[in-house]
Amino acid sequence: MNNPAAQVRDAPDVETVVIGAGVVGLAIARSLAAAGHEVVVLERHGAIGQETSSRSSEVIHAGLYYPPGSLKARLCVEGRRMLYAFARENGIPHARYGKLVVATAEAELPRLDALAATARANGVSDIARLSAADVQAREPDLDCVGALLSPSTGVIDSHALMVALEGHIRSGAGSIVLNADVADLQARDGAPFEIATVSAGERTTLTARNLVIAAGLGATRLGSMLVADSRYEPPKTYPARGHYYVLDGPTPFRHLVYPLPRDAWLGIHLTLDIAGRARFGPDLEWQVEPSTVFDEEDGARRARFEREIRRYWPGLPEGRLSPGYVGVRPKIYASGEPARDFAMHDARDHGIARLVALYGIESPGLTSSLAIGAHVAALLPR
Ligand SMILES: Cc1cc2nc3c(=O)[nH]c(=O)nc-3n(C[C@H](O)[C@H](O)[C@H](O)COP(=O)(O)OP(=O)(O)OC[C@H]3O[C@@H](n4cnc5c(N)ncnc54)[C@H](O)[C@@H]3O)c2cc1C
Repeated sequence: MNNPAAQVRDAPDVETVVIGAGVVGLAIARSLAAAGHEVVVLERHGAIGQETSSRSSEVIHAGLYYPPGSLKARLCVEGRRMLYAFARENGIPHARYGKLVVATAEAELPRLDALAATARANGVSDIARLSAADVQAREPDLDCVGALLSPSTGVIDSHALMVALEGHIRSGAGSIVLNADVADLQARDGAPFEIATVSAGERTTLTARNLVIAAGLGATRLGSMLVADSRYEPPKTYPARGHYYVLDGPTPFRHLVYPLPRDAWLGIHLTLDIAGRARFGPDLEWQVEPSTVFDEEDGARRARFEREIRRYWPGLPEGRLSPGYVGVRPKIYASGEPARDFAMHDARDHGIARLVALYGIESPGLTSSLAIGAHVAALLPR
């Protein structure tokens, strides 16, 4: 470009904008800042991590379930290693409790073996097959006919993780702008992206050389503003709500306990938080619009949970479950369709240089976050 006026006009305000301050957007911004990018994270809420990232099971998954070779499989296994190291180095509370995937009927045993084969193909080398007696020795209250033990599954304080990521971003060449709701996006050939945000009713426009959309449930709406090629359509988002009940009082379990997965759903499982308190869920309810309202369904939901839990914990006492919270998965496949992989679209998909847009970052997105950060930063060389 030889026109100096055009050069001045087209000089971006910032090098790289990331839309979304959930765990994934923050992890991406941290990787970009570490690679020397001047990066600004735009977040519509008044604090980081107010949507899906603060409504998960907080499990560091080992990588048992996902099709070998998929982004979910690769980024989960890699992200899990990175997350344990990052948690250790940054003093983030976490616990490697280990997890038992249980078969509750003889007919389910071959599915345990199939799951073990998938896990090994994904590079999860530490899983062990346990007999019912082995399980009894470890967890006397658990009723099953066999199980898989995944020692490297754990939990992490996801809020502390996000605060640590924020610290890394701010101590690099990065900043986070809160209450910045991105209302409009423009991409013109060769020119920087134009990003219009609304804050307290006031509209501001920022330009950026690179743009990352890590907006969770809001990604499809934003991605649709930047369609350059009529053959490309951003994936549609199908919200799917999951309720959690917490167990009142102490739990007899020391491991996380999962039934065998059904289709794209892991089943009502038991997880422990950092303090060792047990919670159960999430269930799976497809929605038209995302809602985090806890719907008790006049007791029908609680009864369903109790029935599911008693398949592996027959001793669950009456009246020990209290409503917890609701998280919404940003799925990119509809009810009844086969599960889809994470979608991380770059110019090869949508035809727009220096744009990376993420869709369908459901579980294991928390586990994979640091690996996703490294992956996206590699797509945006300086
Ligand atoms: C019920 C449930 C259980 C889960 N359990 C686990 C688990 O145990 N382990 C695991 O690894 N993963 C789990 N996950 C998945 C994990 O929580 C997600 O993959 C992860 O939190 C996604 O992070 P994110 O940053 O992509 O999305 P989000 O946390 O949703 O962040 C997106 C951000 O973008 C912002 N945003 C959206 N639109 C705009 C806009 N227009 N302008 C500005 N900002 C905008 C939002 O406000 C939000 O803060 C679970 C998910 C759910 C729903």
